[in-house]
Amino acid sequence: MVLLDTPVVRTGAGLRQPPVRTTTRTHCPYCSLQCGILLTAGGRPATLEPDPDFPTNRGGLCSKGWTAHELLDHPERLLSPLVRAVPGDRTSPLVEASWEEALERVVAAVTGTQARHGRDAVGVFGGGGLTNEKAYALGKFARVALRTSAIDYNGRFCMSSAAAATNRVFGVDRGLPFPLADLADADAIMITGGNPAATMPPAMQHFDAARARGASLVVVDPRRTPTAAAAAAQGVHLAPVPGTDLPLLLGMLHVAVRDGFVDHEYVETRTTGFEAAAAAAAQWWPDRVERTTGVPEGDLRRAVRLLADASRRGGAVMLSGRGAEQHANGTDTVLAQANLALALGLPGRPGSGFGTVTGQGNGQGGREHGLKADQLPGYRSISDPPPAPTSPASGASTRRCCPAPAAPPTRCSTPSGPRAGCAPCSCWPPTRWSRLRTPSACAAGSRRWTTSSSPTWSSRRPRRWPTSCCRPPSGPRRPGR
Ligand code: SF4
Repeated sequence: MVLLDTPVVRTGAGLRQPPVRTTTRTHCPYCSLQCGILLTAGGRPATLEPDPDFPTNRGGLCSKGWTAHELLDHPERLLSPLVRAVPGDRTSPLVEASWEEALERVVAAVTGTQARHGRDAVGVFGGGGLTNEKAYALGKFARVALRTSAIDYNGRFCMSSAAAATNRVFGVDRGLPFPLADLADADAIMITGGNPAATMPPAMQHFDAARARGASLVVVDPRRTPTAAAAAAQGVHLAPVPGTDLPLLLGMLHVAVRDGFVDHEYVETRTTGFEAAAAAAAQWWPDRVERTTGVPEGDLRRAVRLLADASRRGGAVMLSGRGAEQHANGTDTVLAQANLALALGLPGRPGSGFGTVTGQGNGQGGREHGLKADQLPGYRSISDPPPAPTSPASGASTRRCCPAPAAPPTRCSTPSGPRAGCAPCSCWPPTRWSRLRTPSACAAGSRRWTTSSSPTWSSRRPRRWPTSCCRPPSGPRRPGR
């Protein structure tokens, strides 16, 4: 947040903000697009206008954003704490109180509950509306001040499927790993379970920029949403029966393998576990997918061909949304999308890749800064061992990145470098050998995919093991290895 104009005057009572209008460059608070706005307040009523220079919205706002300033002057906005007239009696009326009285009641309730029932008897629940700094402070308050393990936030449900899947595939929980504006450089965009034309209209300018260059749009959605209608006009709309996204995506991988669209060099040099993913997809041949999902076989093939052709021309982007994720098999559905993206060789170039569209204002920041129950600030898993002591001479961590062969190689690394507390080791960079499906795939992955007109699985050992912690498991070898 940048204060463009900060007039402060000194009066006899000391420093105070005068009632003059100031303009602040900030963000719409409502959704993950975080559109840039210029908010003018200080005097009332507050007003806003879209920020023409902010790269995400470039001067656009949706109807929610245009009203973001109105809550500042809303007559029902709370301006002071309210407490129950009779402490502990929820039926008594709410009455105004001073901050001191309100905070004393909070402290008494928290300490009294923990004294009677233990530290975990008090829970802390954050939200995607908090800034990174507030999310970090709230996590520290819960774990360090209250010393409770009962902390979570509303991202627990929102995109936990996507977080779990991307952790397993890429080793990091990062919703969108590239700027939204990169969509304009893609030659094809596929979105599954999302409808940005209705939910975040300013984002569509990036889709439209790609389409103006001739890019195709593939939308997977049971409904003919505005986004799906755009795909029908220039691309393909796949409308599976609700709850059948996973068979549809496995069918797309099946088509990619069978029709020769797999980027074998990419798969061989940058992934593991492709064999298992393709085997899972093998049972979903197009005719079976059509009978299960209602999506015509021709549309399925056309969608895969659009993505594969775009990948060969320049790049394609695959996006996952909540519609496909918030199911009992949501994690598998995101895994299937990521597997397809890796099979086509999409991640790792500009204008190409895989990402998930975040929903809440700062849902991503909540997970990155310690609000999620199983994740500490900086992506660190709650089950990670504490960092080793640092070397007094160099100040560098003495902890090895891959202490044991069984440890997943991406455990200590992120796409941008080793995790805090880990020294670089031979398993860096992880993109040379990112996992395709399971954390154990590296240790277990002892076979490789071979290229041929009639694809078969080879039982031979790869030409080289990319990392010291990716050796095959010890013990008897299967024939041919
Ligand atoms: S798209 Fe999202 S961030 Fe942008 S104005 Fe609308 S609600 Fe606000």
